[in-house]
Amino acid sequence: MKKLLIFALLLLPVMALTAQERQRPAQPRQPGQAPAQMGQPGQTAEPQQYPARMTPQMTEFFDPPVKVIQPPAQVGMPPSDAIILFDGSDVNKEWEDSRGNPTKWIVQDGSLVCVKGSGVIQTKRKFNDFQLHIEWKAPENVIGSGQGRGNSGVYLQSLYEVQVLDSYDNPTYKQGQAGALYKQYAPLVNVCRKPGEWQSYDIIYTAPRFGNDSTSYFTPPRVTVLQNGVLIQNNVSLRGPTLYVGIPEYSIKKHGAMPLVLQDHGNPVAFRNIWIREL
Ligand code: MG
Repeated sequence: MKKLLIFALLLLPVMALTAQERQRPAQPRQPGQAPAQMGQPGQTAEPQQYPARMTPQMTEFFDPPVKVIQPPAQVGMPPSDAIILFDGSDVNKEWEDSRGNPTKWIVQDGSLVCVKGSGVIQTKRKFNDFQLHIEWKAPENVIGSGQGRGNSGVYLQSLYEVQVLDSYDNPTYKQGQAGALYKQYAPLVNVCRKPGEWQSYDIIYTAPRFGNDSTSYFTPPRVTVLQNGVLIQNNVSLRGPTLYVGIPEYSIKKHGAMPLVLQDHGNPVAFRNIWIREL
């Protein structure tokens, strides 16, 4: 009897511990901890990470590979995938007048020169998104002032003008000076060279997208311009087509790919080294 009592006393702490274990609430699962495994009796579950632990390779992709193109011999020259729009020779290969006829603009010493009264010229090709390089030169012999001095323009998709103007010491309204998105955005700085000196525009253009409404943009046209290598328009969103008079928003009309246009504003502005990359 005494032995039985001693055994019962020894058993009590063990029973108390077991009861305590049963009452303890389940611990919440920690991040990275495997969920409880309902394995067969005697089977040991493999510890798993949940969610799976990331490795560097999970964010390193190879396919499809980036297209390889040949870089230009020097900055400003066309890379291998560019479409050459004017290389100093035949203008009628890529350009025409607004009626589809040969242009009256002339090629002089490898430059394409606007002839007053001959009208705009446009590319035979139509474009959507692109990167454009174009070089231009205002006449060395300065005639006129303000908007009447070395005026031309690069019309993106025939509708949106990047102003070409001799803005070297030539005051005019700021949304109309060289590098302006005409009447919408003045350039960030005036980085014009003297008249008679060649200067460049590098233009990155994203065409507008249209939804069901054909008189408003789903996403507007966006334009970045570098003049002589300097940023002068930083991804600006256009309000609508370029207008001399009026509100751009009221003139929005759904369109697709359109030609590039160079403006005849009555001044003998010259162009050269024109190339474009479709994006
Ligand atoms: Mg103009």
